[in-house]
Amino acid sequence: MAANRTFTMLKPDAVRAGNIGNILQMINAAGYRIVAMKLTQLSLEKAGEFYEVHKERPFYGELCAFMSSGPIVAAILEKDNAVEDFRTLIGATNPANAAPGTIRAKYATSMGENAVHGSDSDENAAIEGAFHFAGVELF
Ligand code: UDP
Ligand code: MG
Repeated sequence: MAANRTFTMLKPDAVRAGNIGNILQMINAAGYRIVAMKLTQLSLEKAGEFYEVHKERPFYGELCAFMSSGPIVAAILEKDNAVEDFRTLIGATNPANAAPGTIRAKYATSMGENAVHGSDSDENAAIEGAFHFAGVELF
């Protein structure tokens, strides 16, 4: 995947709260082009695979249970400096520390249920995009 792309998931809390439209509007307003997108649900096993890097962390079990608890919106997004700018747009992991106006400041309810995922590097954006999408699903 090109270096000007990132990967996101609108997490089960955001979907349950009816915030898909609000969050997509913020993503559009920030200048991202949607390369791929779908409503889908992770199994507990697939959530475990996606968050494998956090396997040893105390919150891993809870994170995997939450991420498989309902549908998510998965998407690949494109724009200059996509990864870094998207991390700025979503705000800090803990919404209590998220800058005002960020997606997490507006829509996250806790450290765990924080509305949205954003890749942390170009390399992980490519891995995470390929985890959810086949090449023919990218536009
Ligand atoms: N998480 C959690 N408790 C923590 C840290 C993280 O429940 O103490 C969850 C939270 O949903 C977070 C995800 O695990 O978004 C991945 O953690 P990471 O540190 O990668 O944060 P992110 O990159 O999502 O900001
Ligand atoms: Mg992360």
